[in-house]
Amino acid sequence: MRLTLDNLGSFCNSDGDCLLWDGATTGHGYPSASIFGATTSNVRRWVASLNGMAIEGKRVVCICQQNRCLNFDHFRAMTSKEAVRWMAANGLLSTTTVAMARAKAARARKGTKLDMPRARAIRQRRSEGASLLTLASEFGVSQDTCWKVVNGLSWRESVTAASAFTFRP
Ligand SMILES: [Zn+2]
Repeated sequence: MRLTLDNLGSFCNSDGDCLLWDGATTGHGYPSASIFGATTSNVRRWVASLNGMAIEGKRVVCICQQNRCLNFDHFRAMTSKEAVRWMAANGLLSTTTVAMARAKAARARKGTKLDMPRARAIRQRRSEGASLLTLASEFGVSQDTCWKVVNGLSWRESVTAASAFTFRP
């Protein structure tokens, strides 16, 4: 029998409101099937796109957290970033993965040079009474750098004001 969206249910078992794929799975336990001549295909993506979900450049995450589930109602299209955020929020990332991501982010912060939004934030915090020492540790730069920012010797508004208009999110 050829797999179609209509007979999908006969390839699955119901588990609560989940539709669990009864066929072959990938090494990671995701439904895998021969679709349109392709030897293996990501069945979840296939179901998602046939249901009209916009998945181009996105990952299809099943919010019931069952790898074999093919209930379209449980599908959410997410960017990789959103998917990682979602997994972290749901405790699906291993502690090692989380620790590594945190360390990487910390390293990136340390190496980050200032930019205008951060310079403005420093001036804002300084005007609220934060000490140079506090600011230096908060923004991961030297006290000298903070002093220059606060006193208009670097990252002055007039010089780089144009950047506000070329900023692309
Ligand atoms: Zn499900």
